[in-house]
Order: sequence, then C-alpha cells, then structure tokens
Amino acid sequence: MGMNYRRYLAGERIYGCSGCKTHLATIHSMISRAFNGQHGRAYLFDGVVNVVEGEPCDRPMTTGIHVVRDIYCCKCGITLGWKYDKAYEPSQRYKEGKYILERNLLVDVQ
Ligand SMILES: [Zn+2]
Repeated sequence: MGMNYRRYLAGERIYGCSGCKTHLATIHSMISRAFNGQHGRAYLFDGVVNVVEGEPCDRPMTTGIHVVRDIYCCKCGITLGWKYDKAYEPSQRYKEGKYILERNLLVDVQ
C-alpha cells in the first residue's frame, strides 16, 4: 500500500465505515436523511473524509441523470455510496460536490 493517512474526526456523532470503523463524516456535515441509496436509506453529506473516488459515470436516477463517482473506504475498500459531480436538472444542482453514504454501510463511532 502507498500512503494511507487516515483522518480522525471529533464531535458528538461520528459516522464510520461498517467494515472497519474508519471515520467518514460527522452529523454536522449532514444535509439530508431523505435519500435512497442502492441498499435502502442513504444520507447526503456536505463533506466526507477517508474515501477514494472512482471514475465519473452517468447514472439515471428518479430525479434525472447525474454524473456520479462511486466512493470507497480508503482502508477496507467497500463501496460506501457516491459523490455527485454534476446534475443536469437545475433543481438538482444543490447536490453537486456532495456525497451520499448508505445508512446500512455506516456505524456510529465514538
Ligand atoms: Zn472501511
């Protein structure tokens, strides 16, 4: 493995990877709980840490086509959700640059 510096978050509520408990995001960067992922409920975050981003691809969703990148845990490599690179629908542009994490793939870390 190359350099693998993991960041540690601080706060009341920290979400970690269900595979290895690597810190991913805090409640303060959560924008919405009302999203759906590939495996059920998902959360939208303003920023996440300790993820690797895949290649961008077009993905049709119920809210239109989006350019997204799958995001993976930097330690154990499981797919955690995706990042929105671009939304074609003007009403969906607020998601650009934001991250989806699947609720089923998160654990509370403290
Ligand atoms: Zn992990």
